[in-house]
Amino acid sequence: MTQALDRLKQSSTAAFTKLQCKECGAEYEPTAQHVCEFCFGPVEVKYDYDVLRRTVSRETIQAGPNSVWRYRPFLPVTTDTPIDVGTGMTPLVEARRLARHLGLKKLYIKNDAVNMPTLSFKDRVVSVALTRARELGFSTVSCASTGNLANSTAAIAAHAGLDCCVFIPADLEAGKVLGTLIYNPTVMAVKGNYDQVNRLCSEVANTHGWGFVNINLRPYYSEGSKTLGFEVAEQLGWQLPDRIVAPLASGSLFSKIYKGFREFVEVGLVSDKHVTFSGAQAEGCSPIAQAYREGRDFITPVKPNTIAKSIAIGNPADGVYALDIARNTNGSIESVNDTEIVEGIKLLAETEGIFTETAGGTTIATLKKLADAGKIDPDEVTVAYITGNGLKTQEAVQGYIGEPLTIEPQLDSFERALERSHTLNRLEWQQVLV
Ligand SMILES: *Cc1c(COP(=O)(O)O)cnc(C)c1O
Repeated sequence: MTQALDRLKQSSTAAFTKLQCKECGAEYEPTAQHVCEFCFGPVEVKYDYDVLRRTVSRETIQAGPNSVWRYRPFLPVTTDTPIDVGTGMTPLVEARRLARHLGLKKLYIKNDAVNMPTLSFKDRVVSVALTRARELGFSTVSCASTGNLANSTAAIAAHAGLDCCVFIPADLEAGKVLGTLIYNPTVMAVKGNYDQVNRLCSEVANTHGWGFVNINLRPYYSEGSKTLGFEVAEQLGWQLPDRIVAPLASGSLFSKIYKGFREFVEVGLVSDKHVTFSGAQAEGCSPIAQAYREGRDFITPVKPNTIAKSIAIGNPADGVYALDIARNTNGSIESVNDTEIVEGIKLLAETEGIFTETAGGTTIATLKKLADAGKIDPDEVTVAYITGNGLKTQEAVQGYIGEPLTIEPQLDSFERALERSHTLNRLEWQQVLV
């Protein structure tokens, strides 16, 4: 650990300097610490933006790797050899058919359903957290997860040769459990909800000295989400969008997209612009949306009950910051029910060929709700963040999709089936059109 600190002090171009409490401003050396000793507020990574202005340009970024590490000066690590498993630089796709369906003109999908290595946005935060964990000398890494984080932590720890023990609620989707076990970490399936898992992990972090990516390493971990802001700005041709729509669990991703945009403005990589922040939660776990609706500036924790398990956090750590951002940007935090979430998944699949999980369904359902209510100007450049892959939450759409037409290996059997399916499709379309 001291080695890493020495290296940091020697390096004259490191923009990453300290940790700072978001509430009282107290500063700390950049170790594994996430809570302020004075006021118990969350601590956040601080940068020297003068150094960034001097050393970073569009060209230096474009000359970097085709991964989140092209933004390394904006990330809280000192090494020149971060753990790079190709995370980030996922496609920003113009969604013309979905836009037409919703009456919009300039709609983009930021598609982290195909992020590497485990097909969710969590690969971003884990790439950063484990690189920092290694710098700080941790040999065992861990996390409290709603599913995707366990996948990412286990996979990237395997790649980096770190010991790994992950904690998940015992009732997760089969794809998320299998997608963790394959990397052979220790998996603790806790009989309880995510908030109980998280509380248990806080105790383990204190007693075992492990690096929990979203607990004692949280200040570093959460910085990884800024890359979702950086990439969109770069992929739009070094411009900010007019609006983003993103899902909230703890509210970290939402808040860090905002921080990413602000840093690019601060350093002069993009010109300043008003961006509206629209947040999406599942009705069965919507403590931030409820606070927004009721005009409160505090969050009342809830017990989650929704198919959108990956974003089912009842006591969101960054909820109040997300609320502030939504309010200050003229945005909102919406909630949609489980039926709308399934319809959102299907709508994105059928219009754009992107199969997202329940969190992405929540985003698309929220986008549709805002568009239907006329709250989005059709000319706005809108970016919807799709944060996870549908193959991991197949249970959610079971019973809501068609079935294959089983036929004999003969032409006439095929012809009959085709005729029947045409009739069926026509009927379905008639239902859709009435
Ligand atoms: C974790 C997660 C989120 C949101 O995470 P925050 O805690 O709000 O940063 C969104 N989508 C998916 C698929 C996730 O796994």
